[in-house]
Formats: sequence, structure tokens, C-alpha cells
Amino acid sequence: MTLPLKTRSILQDRAELINIALKLKENNLSPGCSGNISMLTDDGQKILITPTGLDYKLLKKEDLVLLSLDGNEVEGRNGPSSEWRFHCALYARRKNIKAVIHTHSVHATAVACLHEEIPPIHYHVALCGDKIPLAGYHMYGTQELSNLILEKIGDYNGLLMANHGALAVGNSLENAYTVIEAIEFVSTLYLKAKVAGTLKILSQREIEQVRDRFQQIGY
Ligand SMILES: [Zn+2]
Repeated sequence: MTLPLKTRSILQDRAELINIALKLKENNLSPGCSGNISMLTDDGQKILITPTGLDYKLLKKEDLVLLSLDGNEVEGRNGPSSEWRFHCALYARRKNIKAVIHTHSVHATAVACLHEEIPPIHYHVALCGDKIPLAGYHMYGTQELSNLILEKIGDYNGLLMANHGALAVGNSLENAYTVIEAIEFVSTLYLKAKVAGTLKILSQREIEQVRDRFQQIGY
């Protein structure tokens, strides 16, 4: 007898997204009303995204907005986050992406204001790739910003957005959260280590070994 595959309900998705929003808030990763979160629904046909301009602490399940993959509103009492363009574009580009988190966390944003990529100064960079790349500046919410993010993210799991913030993707909301948290942690180290002395960077081989280990035994 073949048992049906376990499926998630839209209510479970809404609850999971709210949990991640609160976790971002509790850990000071999303100051004020900044940032946005989305996830692909179980049927792979729609995305659930945070609404525009609402503090995560006040967020209720019914505030989340359901969009088609091309960005049309399917259901919701609010408008979607102004950054819906890059959320939709990322799901369309990479089929393994199931969740996207964007924040204005302080240290990641500070490095993004320097217009610098972060080299592998710590093995947690491997959660993102062999570095944390940078996408240059375009105004928030624009097609130009979305296009640039798609170009720069390639196969990385996250990047810095110049004069703006940080972005992470994952095959689950938890994994995207792990990446956005790692970006903030490594950005904090980067700023502190740079003023304390000369950075010592892991070699390409060393960072590849960590990436292999993450794949074998997890983080
Ligand atoms: Zn933003």
C-alpha cells in the first residue's frame, strides 16, 4: 500500500512564517518594520510573503499575503512587501529555493555600506558559499534591484545588498534563517577583526572542506 506523501497546509505555513518573523525580531535581526520573509507553498505554485510596513511583533496569520509566482496577489487584506519582485524572481530562477529572508540587520548592513564582499574569514561563511557576495545599490522595490540580486546571487545562499541590508535563501525557512543569522555573525566578526589587525582568510580548499562536511553531517 502506498501512503500519501506528507503535505503541509497553508495554515501550517502561515504559523511557521510568523515563528521565523518573531525569531528575527527577538534576535535583533530585523530592526523596526524592516525586512521581509517569504516561503513557497506546498504545491509550489504560490508564495506566502509578509505584508508591507507591519512590525513583526504585530503580525497575524491573516496579515500574510499569498502571491502567484509572477507576483499577482491571490489572497490577502494587505499589500505584499515592496520587495516582492526579488522574492518571486529567486523562486523562478532556482528551483531548490523554498524560502527567502531579507533583513536590515546592523552589522551586515554596515559591511554592505562599505560595498565589500566578505571573504571566508570564518568557517560559517560556508553556509553561504565560498564568500558572502555583494549586490550593488539600486532603490528598494525596483526591478533593477531584483535583476542585480539575481545576477549576483548565482548559486550562493545569501548576499549583502549595498547601502541596504542582507538576503538569504534556503530549502526551508529554518535553513534560510540559519544563513541570515550566519551572515550577521560573520559581518560582526569582519568589522571587529578588520580594526583589530590583519584578516587571515581560509583557503579555497579549507572552505570547500567545510562545505563538504556541512553536506555530510550538517551544520
Ligand atoms: Zn530592505
